[in-house]
Amino acid sequence: MAQIIDGKALAGVVRANVAAEVAQIKAQGGCVRFAAVLVGEDPASQIYVRNKQRACEKVGIEFELHTLPATCQYQDLVNLIRRLSADKKINGVLLQLPVPLNVIGNHLTEVLNLIDPQKDVDGLTVANLGKLASGDDCLIPCTAQGVLYAINSVCPNLMGKNVVMIGRSRIVGRPTSLLLTNQNATVTVCHSRTRNLAEHTRKADIIVVAAGCPNLVTADMVKPDAIVIDVGINRLADGKLVGDVDFANVEKVASAITPVPGGIGPLTIAFLLNNIVVAYRRQHGC
Ligand code: NDP
Repeated sequence: MAQIIDGKALAGVVRANVAAEVAQIKAQGGCVRFAAVLVGEDPASQIYVRNKQRACEKVGIEFELHTLPATCQYQDLVNLIRRLSADKKINGVLLQLPVPLNVIGNHLTEVLNLIDPQKDVDGLTVANLGKLASGDDCLIPCTAQGVLYAINSVCPNLMGKNVVMIGRSRIVGRPTSLLLTNQNATVTVCHSRTRNLAEHTRKADIIVVAAGCPNLVTADMVKPDAIVIDVGINRLADGKLVGDVDFANVEKVASAITPVPGGIGPLTIAFLLNNIVVAYRRQHGC
């Protein structure tokens, strides 16, 4: 049976470090402040933002929520992001995704790029993603960092490991594949157009899946003793929360596996907090 990678416990370690850093900054008279922007009234997004608020408050980061109605104009969003980005008191700015299509149209990249790269704690500006692709120092997307941390908890050295990353989104798949490549893993990126996914996954020492498809990764697709990292979060018709992996059967084959919930989710929030402190330190040169 696979070792269960306890994302909650790992996240607790990261959060404790962040809390200690924030306390140190406060003791020196500083204040770490984070602003989240929420457009519209999507209930899932409201929950995600509330979770971020709670997490910030627990480690002593000042949290500001800026909301715009789903009926707002594109220019209202642009003005708000510009204002927050220019505000010297704010160290991190995050635009909660997705933004309603009637507001953002096909301008998501443009709007994300209005965030000062030094405050881009989601790591989604072209500046930060470009640096990650170049192997340069930058603010790295939180989920990608969570995935690496989870893998490192059972496999500290990725050199020579074959990784299959299922998913190539801007927010998860692409940055994760870049981060793992920078750690000397040999990464194959698969997506919805990949032919014979199982042929790839069976060769992998580590499978990371972020597709949003329940049961996409089944036991026959997993090499014995592989590490399986499940980023997916899917709500089934009966209300149950599951990942992209057939957990009950894959845990019999894998050497280690992340559960859903309680795997990468808590780590993503923990690394958001960490990015906010990293951003503060870079802005203050400390
Ligand atoms: P996207 O929908 O943006 O991307 C999904 C990716 O998976 C795409 O690249 C898509 O391919 C690929 N894909 C979809 N179906 C298949 C398939 N059948 N076979 C192979 N590849 C497939 O989603 P996100 O990246 O934003 O999120 C992915 C999942 O991770 C979701 O369940 C989301 O809720 C979850 N998530 C979890 C987080 C956490 O903290 N745990 C954080 C962020 C997301 P193509 O490019 O060809 O369309």
